[in-house]
Amino acid sequence: MSLFNIPDGVDVIEVRKKVNKMLSEARKKAKSKKCILCGKEQSSFCNSHSVPQMCLRPIADKGKVLHASLAMGFDIGVVDLDGGVNKSGTFNYICRECDAKFFQDYENPDNIIQPPTDKILAEIAVKNMLLQLNKRDIELELLDIKQQELGIYENPDKLSELKTLDQKEYQEEVLFHQDIANNNKEGGYQILFWEVLPYKVPIATQSAMVLPYDMEGDILNDVGNMDKSVRMQYVHIAVLPLEKKSVVLAFYHKRDKIYRRLRHQINTTSREKVLQYINYLIFEHTENVYFSKTIEEELKNNKMIEKVSQEANGLPTFGHLSADNIFGMDYEAVKPEDIPNFLDESWAIKEEENTDGEE
Ligand SMILES: [Zn+2]
Repeated sequence: MSLFNIPDGVDVIEVRKKVNKMLSEARKKAKSKKCILCGKEQSSFCNSHSVPQMCLRPIADKGKVLHASLAMGFDIGVVDLDGGVNKSGTFNYICRECDAKFFQDYENPDNIIQPPTDKILAEIAVKNMLLQLNKRDIELELLDIKQQELGIYENPDKLSELKTLDQKEYQEEVLFHQDIANNNKEGGYQILFWEVLPYKVPIATQSAMVLPYDMEGDILNDVGNMDKSVRMQYVHIAVLPLEKKSVVLAFYHKRDKIYRRLRHQINTTSREKVLQYINYLIFEHTENVYFSKTIEEELKNNKMIEKVSQEANGLPTFGHLSADNIFGMDYEAVKPEDIPNFLDESWAIKEEENTDGEE
């Protein structure tokens, strides 16, 4: 969760206002001309939601869900599904036609509760990588604007070079998974966990993650390695609540071999512990997550949630180390069991709490 680096002694609210203005400028500049999925030139793009509406509506209260920034201690974490108050988690990368067609297998409540096909996994992976790509594009534009307005980077050229590198990697990932979906290729994905829970969890998310450590704390991806020949490897996590059930899914593509050990660990761990681990990965590694208002108080008041939300790969202050946090040396990273497991039935949204209901 390291999009914004806010220096000490700066008024957070003012910075957020500025950043929001910069974000909308950056969004305008970052728009490409062609739809990445069909390659056709477009004058306007669809405002695609990364987490399908079918999974946000069931946890919404009067059309509103909460966003990750609330757990991070910011006060603007409300997403209005109808009014679009908060645009996080949306991307403008593909044309309306592709948005309506490409994801239709998985964006269907009847399909998603069945054991996932390779096509469905590929659609989810494409969506996750599009969101990463879009985020990087905006960040690249933001770098320029932020440097001009706040001057907070010592070496902006180096940062920009790294982010351009990421962009190529994400583009390659999008095309790789798109090819699997379009050509119905089978046998490529490895499911780590898939279950349809018989209750409605208060969280909706889907995200591609580069995990630095496995369940035992051994290194998976060397996230500090800037060598251009090192390709980062991804795990895809999805928690998709429906009206009366929830789908929890974790998978990777078999070319991302480093996760074989994680697979073994998951297979030899109890179901409860795996759910707890997935819940932890969500708070540690993605900001593309939406919450029901039923857990608002817990999100606001639980200090461990705030702490884990401000970690980056187990390091404090979004991974920005300085003398202020003793370069992270005495920092104790949050563990899965330190935070509430919102995938557990005890946190499920009860029938009477669901104010929106079936529409
Ligand atoms: Zn298209």
